[in-house]
Amino acid sequence: MNPDPGNDPTPTLPAPRLASGARLIACRECDLLQYEVVLEGHADAHCSRCNSVLYRGTRASLARMLALMASCAVLLAVSNLFPIAVLEVQGAHVEATLINTVITVYNQGRELVATLVLLTTIVLPAIEIACMLYLLVPLALGRIAPDTPAVFRLVLAIHPWSMMEIMLLGVLVTLVKLTDFANIIPGVSLWSFCALIVFFTMAASAFSVRDFWAWVEERDTALEMKESLQ
Ligand SMILES: [Zn+2]
Repeated sequence: MNPDPGNDPTPTLPAPRLASGARLIACRECDLLQYEVVLEGHADAHCSRCNSVLYRGTRASLARMLALMASCAVLLAVSNLFPIAVLEVQGAHVEATLINTVITVYNQGRELVATLVLLTTIVLPAIEIACMLYLLVPLALGRIAPDTPAVFRLVLAIHPWSMMEIMLLGVLVTLVKLTDFANIIPGVSLWSFCALIVFFTMAASAFSVRDFWAWVEERDTALEMKESLQ
């Protein structure tokens, strides 16, 4: 006897749509081979056997990633060019910039701390943003930057060492403590540094290595077709 489908309590899910030219993908946890399916923007594909995440849907388009990275570049420049705060003590004005903070720490004999702050707050984020722009701008123009795999590996290696939010937290705690001794006027750099951390976090959470290689592959295929037609 066939049960009445209208009374079946099991929810019926639509059959997943296979990606065009669907490829087999192996689960990293249990090695089960499965076909890729098309995902909505904020959906994740899970393994049908062990339920671990296979891949994520595209959170950000190439244009959005490029816009976020360009914004980060401008904000990083502003954060380093302008004072983070102006301290007024008995009529005297002292302007504190990010780089001045590093130099002061260095001159106090804490060379290792100064070097770490310089690297994790200014140098490595700057290299990461520059590398991302180096990779994304040509992709947006339909080309592939030379040495893309090596530059991308550098980005992945650098990323865990960008610790701007820790620096910001330190700066905020210091400024609050200093309000007992001096009049603190927040500078342009403080606001741009806050905005930079928000944009940088948005870019990091939306970016997917899988999407990046899909963009490269698309351009590669398009370039190959163009060459074959010439
Ligand atoms: Zn699995």
